[in-house]
Amino acid sequence: MPELPEVETIARGLARRVSGDVIESVWLSNKKEPFKSAPKQIAKTLADTRILDVRRVGKHIVIDLQPVNRASLKTSSARQWIVHLGMTGRMLIETPDAEIPKHTHAIAKLSSGRELRFVDPRRFGRLAVSETSFTGPGAEPLDISLEEFAKLFRKRKTPIKSALLNQKLLHGVGNIYADESLFRAGIRPKRRAASLTRTELERLHKAVKEVLREAITLGGSSVSDYVDSEGREGFFQLQHRVYLRTGEPCLVCKTPIKRIVVAGRGTHYCPKCQK
Ligand SMILES: [Zn+2]
Repeated sequence: MPELPEVETIARGLARRVSGDVIESVWLSNKKEPFKSAPKQIAKTLADTRILDVRRVGKHIVIDLQPVNRASLKTSSARQWIVHLGMTGRMLIETPDAEIPKHTHAIAKLSSGRELRFVDPRRFGRLAVSETSFTGPGAEPLDISLEEFAKLFRKRKTPIKSALLNQKLLHGVGNIYADESLFRAGIRPKRRAASLTRTELERLHKAVKEVLREAITLGGSSVSDYVDSEGREGFFQLQHRVYLRTGEPCLVCKTPIKRIVVAGRGTHYCPKCQK
């Protein structure tokens, strides 16, 4: 599943390649699952709009659109195409003669002659449109202040790892980055969120941002089978310090990394460095 850094990388790649282009028309598949908004509404909202920008909000890709003809300018201003990639969703920019893969669910024809396609074999991805500004649930982990961050966990009795994964609190922190952040902050994943001291919260706040920023710099670190907006397979891998390193020596103290399950997710930590 692409996490925040992968989605950021994909959104930036798309922004670079399609900003300024105009969506002329849209084809949608007859499968139900990929469409969170009604397909008719999606087609209507996207057609005849200029792509102003593509950016990440949480783990969503938000494509900002502006109607290009005067008639629709009167009725609506902000429009957004919101894409969640799910497990295997991909946004591809192709020429019309490029083969259309089997699990293509949307094709937006662009005035530049290219096509922006949404392909998703496992159909956990979602397409939606919005006419109000989409902010998603939860706070943005790269922008949140220490005060706001501390407040999120103040009365939480759940393990800190579950709280980090809770998209209603922080949006976009997934399993890999939760484990890596907790390792860097020296905090055990099962600690009750409310039990974290001020110093620990400071370390965690810093670690979450650091880990995400490093991964964005590297272009995301997910190991799954998706490609970026230019169709390149895979991404550079962040040097994981604990994630999927069960039994391997901790890079700091050489203690074998342990694996437990928290919030139903495989969780990796160093029993010596994390307290
Ligand atoms: Zn260690």
